[in-house]
Amino acid sequence: MEPIHMVDLIGQHAAIENELNVAMQRVVKTGAFVKGPEVKAFSEELQTYTGSRFVIPCGNGTDALQIALMALGVGPGDEVITTGFTFISTVEVVALLGATPVLVDVHPDTFNINTEQVAAAITPRTKAIVPVHLFGQMADMDALLALSEKSGVPLIEDNAQAISARWYGAKGKRKNAPQSGTLGLMGTTSFFPSKNLGCMGDGGAIMTNDETIARRLQQIANHGMSKRYHHDVVGLNSRLDGMQAAILRVKLQYLDAYCAARQEAAARYDTLLKDIPGIQIPSRDLRSSHVFHQYTLQVDPDHRDALVEQMKANGIPTGVYYPVPGHRQKAFSTFGFSIEAYPVSDALAARVISLPMHTELTKSQQHTICDTLIKFVKQ
Ligand SMILES: *Cc1c(COP(=O)(O)O)cnc(C)c1O
Repeated sequence: MEPIHMVDLIGQHAAIENELNVAMQRVVKTGAFVKGPEVKAFSEELQTYTGSRFVIPCGNGTDALQIALMALGVGPGDEVITTGFTFISTVEVVALLGATPVLVDVHPDTFNINTEQVAAAITPRTKAIVPVHLFGQMADMDALLALSEKSGVPLIEDNAQAISARWYGAKGKRKNAPQSGTLGLMGTTSFFPSKNLGCMGDGGAIMTNDETIARRLQQIANHGMSKRYHHDVVGLNSRLDGMQAAILRVKLQYLDAYCAARQEAAARYDTLLKDIPGIQIPSRDLRSSHVFHQYTLQVDPDHRDALVEQMKANGIPTGVYYPVPGHRQKAFSTFGFSIEAYPVSDALAARVISLPMHTELTKSQQHTICDTLIKFVKQ
């Protein structure tokens, strides 16, 4: 059997090698390496795909978050509410801008932000709420949109892990439900290679339906420039390059198929693992689709690390996302987060284990993974 990978980009790209080569050659021949026609075309295609009025491409998903906060003027004295059970970027950019990250806990079933705690954390200094659609399933957008409307605090969706997910809400599953990243004032995403829509380097984008915000985002991402060499605000150099855009244009056409493959793999894992004592399969919030950036189980925290080692010894990679929640990160120690205030994040950090999840995963690989897991899991 082929070796099992956590993510298999080589396999994914081999299947569309000719199209990728044609796209990359096009960039070489035109010489438009930074920004240029491929980037413009990709932005437009992503607008059409997501239904977002504006897509502003940028250098990576971390920059996307930073630029979004900068567009709201977030700085010292301001507070931004988010969760610490996420990749570091979500909290890091708040700190980088000199503002104060206000962390709230997550739900034990969906891993997503606890919206009652968000409501309680809003103060006159709150400048933004940043829900993360963790592992490919959306945070409770009905509650968050209601909170945003009531308080006037804008939402920035960190959509790095859930591009193409849909929010069904109370109306239930339907085809044209709004996509993740398009419900808040802004949505950010990442095209890091291992993300659901990945390029071959770094890339990111910000989405918005607000024209004024779109203009501001564009300007900030390009040195605060309005007219060539006229800089109205302090910005940054965060651009998508032509090669990445050309690659993304090819892969965007397969994004629905990639999501379907992930969902199929997740359903198979569910079937194989749902009745095994000692294993808790990921729960679904039926108000959102789930695009399975990760397939994350919960196991006995006393045996989780041993399980990771045993899987590894048997040739099966797994991941722990995330072992250290934001409130325990040394880099954020100056914010004085309470160690007792995040029991769910702490419990999850000790209990989670993510299985290989990608578009090339085979049935037989999944059987091997689950057989091995079941053998070692403490029941
Ligand atoms: C990957 C990721 C980011 C950052 O994206 P980069 O392109 O790596 O900078 C931000 N937030 C979340 C939740 C992510 O998973």
